[in-house]
Amino acid sequence: MNKVVFFTDLKDLHNAVVQFPLQSFAGKKVPLKLHMGEKKNPYFVKPELVKLVVDELKKAHADPFLFDTTVAYHGARHTKTEYLKLANLHGFTMKNVGCDVVIDDTGVPTVVEGRTFEVAEHLKNSTHIFALSHVKGHIQSGMGGAIKNFGMGGVTKETKIKIHKGSQPVYRKDACTYCGVCVEVCPFEAIDVQKNTWTYNKGECFGCGVCVDNCKTNALRHRDADMQFLLACSAKACVQDKNVLYLNELKRIAKGCDCDPNAGPIICPDIGYLVGDDPVAIDKASLDLINNVKENVFEKVNKVNPLKQIKYGEEIGLGSSSYQLIRL
Ligand code: SF4
Ligand code: SF4
Repeated sequence: MNKVVFFTDLKDLHNAVVQFPLQSFAGKKVPLKLHMGEKKNPYFVKPELVKLVVDELKKAHADPFLFDTTVAYHGARHTKTEYLKLANLHGFTMKNVGCDVVIDDTGVPTVVEGRTFEVAEHLKNSTHIFALSHVKGHIQSGMGGAIKNFGMGGVTKETKIKIHKGSQPVYRKDACTYCGVCVEVCPFEAIDVQKNTWTYNKGECFGCGVCVDNCKTNALRHRDADMQFLLACSAKACVQDKNVLYLNELKRIAKGCDCDPNAGPIICPDIGYLVGDDPVAIDKASLDLINNVKENVFEKVNKVNPLKQIKYGEEIGLGSSSYQLIRL
């Protein structure tokens, strides 16, 4: 069973990480994979926490650097130059965190479950990785944690687009009852139903698959697969055969993700921090702790069950959802 260490005071960070064999990180260049926040988003992981993690990695004689990838949509993180500028603005500087910031947009094709994912070169070329994930809601996957940090954040723009397109709906007219449920649940107003017509604006669709999940008559299916399945596969492409230590921050738990300038309200009180070495176990522990405080909160606010990414992760061998919670 996986060990997942829970603590609420950052003074315990050292006690948490030393419960895992960090010796093998010594002498390695280690990407510290994190999301450095979209412009105007107030909830992303803060440089103060990042500095503590960098210090822990240095204590273990590793050579860390902050790492993330560019995003597919146009905005302040679309190119390496733009993202580096924003990271600097958000306080991720050598002076504040004690290491370099690297942004990547080149990938190495990696096959998982018969599909090819382009894993960021810096992750692909590393044997040891530290993942720092801010746990929060997500409009398309219900929740974003360690699996999403890699599944979407560890791959190239092309793969990000492929994941979104793969979970867009395909419509079967003969099974449609024109009930309008897909219209109600679509967060992007990409579907319209009038009497006996169903119309879909592909340009507005972000491929969250919520419409497919909520259609009771199977008139909708995913073009390729459920987004949460593709995220789990993509995460596996990033971390398989590597030594990865994960820190999940369960604070500032908002409805939407750190990519969103309007991430919505805080939907759950602060809980604390988790450290583990299995992405599925740490995300399951995160979800359980959040559900204990606010039952099914992500499903209620985002209309997507985030447990699917955990189940899919387990099915494809990304990790195991069984864990033993150790409270410091
Ligand atoms: S939810 Fe399904 S059955 Fe209802 S309108 Fe949409 S596609 Fe048709
Ligand atoms: S996949 Fe998501 S964004 Fe696209 S039509 Fe369905 S509910 Fe709307």
